[in-house]
Amino acid sequence: MSDQNENIFPVYHEILGRAEKEQQLTQRSKVIWLTGLSGAGKTTIAKYLEEGLYDLGYLTQVLDGDNIRSGINSNLGFSDADRFENIRRIAEISKLFVHCGVITINCFISPTEEIRDMARRIIGKDDFIEVYVNAPLNVCEERDVKGLYSKARRGEIKEFTGITSPFETPENIDIEIRTDLLSIEESVQQLLELIVPRVEYR
Ligand code: ADP
Repeated sequence: MSDQNENIFPVYHEILGRAEKEQQLTQRSKVIWLTGLSGAGKTTIAKYLEEGLYDLGYLTQVLDGDNIRSGINSNLGFSDADRFENIRRIAEISKLFVHCGVITINCFISPTEEIRDMARRIIGKDDFIEVYVNAPLNVCEERDVKGLYSKARRGEIKEFTGITSPFETPENIDIEIRTDLLSIEESVQQLLELIVPRVEYR
C-alpha cells in the first residue's frame, strides 16, 4: 500500500513568505495564547487587548473557543482525544496566521500541560506567548458568566474543567494575570507592556 503523503508537495518556498508580510504590516506576528478556567476572563481580555493593539496599529485575529467549536471543530466534543484534536487544529490555524504576519489572540481553556505543549510545539516556542488568565475556581464559579458551572454542579455537563475534569497549573507561562485582583484595564495594560515590544517591527 502506498503512503498517501508521498503525493503531497508543499509549495511554501515558492510563495511570498512571512518576512514580506510582516514588513508589509510593519509588525512581528505572534500567537498570544490565553489559558485558564471558564470564566477566568480570557474572552474579555482578548476583546480589550485586540482593541488596544488595533489602536496602536496592529492587525490581529481573535480565535475563541465557542466560535471555533461552532465552526471548523463542530464535530468535536470534550473527551480527552477531542480536546487534543481541538487544540491541534487551532494551533495549525494559528500557524497559518503567523505565516501571514497576523497576531492571533487565542482564548482556549487548554487545560493540560500536554495540550499546551503540543500547541507550543506546532506554533514554535519563539512565536508562542503563553498567558495564564487566572482567578480561583470559586471566583469563576461565582461569576458563572454562561451559567455553565451551575449546570456542571447539577451534573448536566460531563467533563467540565475545574469541576469534573482537571485544570493543570501552567508551568511555562510568559505572564500570569490575576483577574480577581486586577481590573480589566489593569489586566490589559500589563499584557500590552509584555506584548508590544515583541510585536514591534524594528
Ligand atoms: P472566559 O473567556 O475565560 O470563559 P469571560 O471573559 O467570558 O471568561 O468572563 C470573565 C468575566 O469576569 C467577565 O464577566 C468579566 O467582566 C469579569 N472580569 C472581572 N475582572 C476581570 C479582569 N481583570 N479581566 C477579565 N475579566 C474580568
